[in-house]
Amino acid sequence: MPASEFGQLQRRLGAGKVLLRPSECSSYRYDAIQFGVRPLAVVLPETVEDVVQAVRAAQAAGVPVVGRGAASGLSGGAAPAQPGLVVSFTRMTALRILPQQREAVAQAGVVTLAVSEAARLHGLTYPPDPASLRTSTIGGNLGENAGGPLCFKYGVTGDYVRALQVVDADGEIHHLTRDAYDLAGLMIGSEGTLGLITEATLRLVPPARHTLTLQASFGSLEACAAAVSTAISAGTVPAKLEFMDAACIGAVEDYLHLGLPRHAAALLLVDSDGDDPAQVEAELKVVEEAFRAAGGEVRRARDAQEAAALWQARRSVSPALGRIRPARMNEDIAVPRSRLPQVVAEIQALAEPYGFPLVQFGHIGDGNLHPNILFDPRRDDPEQVHELAHRIAQVALRHGGVLSGEHGIGSMKRAFMAEAVDTQTAAAYWAIKDTLDPAGRLNPEKLLPPRGALATGPEVAHAGA
Ligand SMILES: Cc1cc2nc3c(=O)[nH]c(=O)nc-3n(C[C@H](O)[C@H](O)[C@H](O)COP(=O)(O)OP(=O)(O)OC[C@H]3O[C@@H](n4cnc5c(N)ncnc54)[C@H](O)[C@@H]3O)c2cc1C
Repeated sequence: MPASEFGQLQRRLGAGKVLLRPSECSSYRYDAIQFGVRPLAVVLPETVEDVVQAVRAAQAAGVPVVGRGAASGLSGGAAPAQPGLVVSFTRMTALRILPQQREAVAQAGVVTLAVSEAARLHGLTYPPDPASLRTSTIGGNLGENAGGPLCFKYGVTGDYVRALQVVDADGEIHHLTRDAYDLAGLMIGSEGTLGLITEATLRLVPPARHTLTLQASFGSLEACAAAVSTAISAGTVPAKLEFMDAACIGAVEDYLHLGLPRHAAALLLVDSDGDDPAQVEAELKVVEEAFRAAGGEVRRARDAQEAAALWQARRSVSPALGRIRPARMNEDIAVPRSRLPQVVAEIQALAEPYGFPLVQFGHIGDGNLHPNILFDPRRDDPEQVHELAHRIAQVALRHGGVLSGEHGIGSMKRAFMAEAVDTQTAAAYWAIKDTLDPAGRLNPEKLLPPRGALATGPEVAHAGA
């Protein structure tokens, strides 16, 4: 009986660490985008031993275990699909910086920004920078392999992992490294479906000493994509390369009146960084020339204050969209960069008959695009929102892209996975899942395509690509 198992767990760990009242458990059924099922119990572990006991209690009760960080996820990953136990890592916040090794050892609940803030005291930094970095946790970042603007040059969360401590489905503790078989790598992006990450050893790097910023606007999406391709082909690797479409520019301008070019079809924001000011200047010059050659109107920031003002536009996208409709479905496709003009235009055209406002922005260097469907849950039909999201996913697959650049698959895009992977790949995924979690108790009904719903994939994935 789950109730007695979790009652015993509460007696062992203490009432403050195990929540059993439905009213308390209710707040652990959602992430930033999706409502799930109310958990039967919630554990707030402080040590890896607490996690072991929690997993064993769930095993004895025969119910699922869902890991949860800050629940800022945008694909339903932390929202339980079945009644069970939620392990919420927010109290596991121990963090050590080892400057000699250029490493941080962070428990799963450490907030992302805390790592770079602590590293900075030792002249180091931790580059992965999801926009949610003030709330998201290292465990959640690893669960989703989170990215951010800096990731084009510096890499995503997984690129900084040296080792992980993980509690498996049986409650055994493992220290996983990246030697021989990359077992730590297997956990990265696995959305809590293969094990619970309790601690991560993360690589730190010295921060760049100089940064220059520019903004460029373009009369067409084609010109914008061509400008980016030319700049990258010329060998530049900007630290940040962010894109906003016309609807996104309009939304931010309506919100903040920053003087953004409303007439533009696309806006790019670029940071170049490095240690040698002359090299940084030379790189930004190449970018600037490529953008002008493609017809871009370029504006350079003269100092850090102006740079911050230019970036304010990108940072304000979320609140600007919140003024248009109270809810949004934040898609997260990634496509080859050369396909971006067609992809952005196709998605715009797809959305029109539905009548939902749609804005697009993203990390254009990686071809990672966030088409956001804006809607009002009180008035709009959720089926229609889901249908449009599915059709957007299909556009990505048709152009040789993938369903997720950084937000994961979760429950939101799980149904689309059957179209995105071929039968053999799906069988390999399930073989790994069945080996590490034979009872299927770790975050069920997430990430993997449902068994038996496979293989419409290759045709959809490659047609037109
Ligand atoms: C305003 C906003 C902006 C965002 N911007 C970005 C962005 O720029 N880039 C980006 O990549 N994402 C972004 N996100 C999405 C989200 O913040 C990231 O996915 C983040 O990594 C989630 O961290 P979290 O701690 O909230 O994890 P949660 O949402 O709690 O969990 C995410 C997944 O990880 C699993 N998980 C959590 N902890 C563990 C653990 N210890 N062990 C194993 N599995 C675990 C969960 O089960 C779930 O599947 C944004 C979200 C918001 C709301």
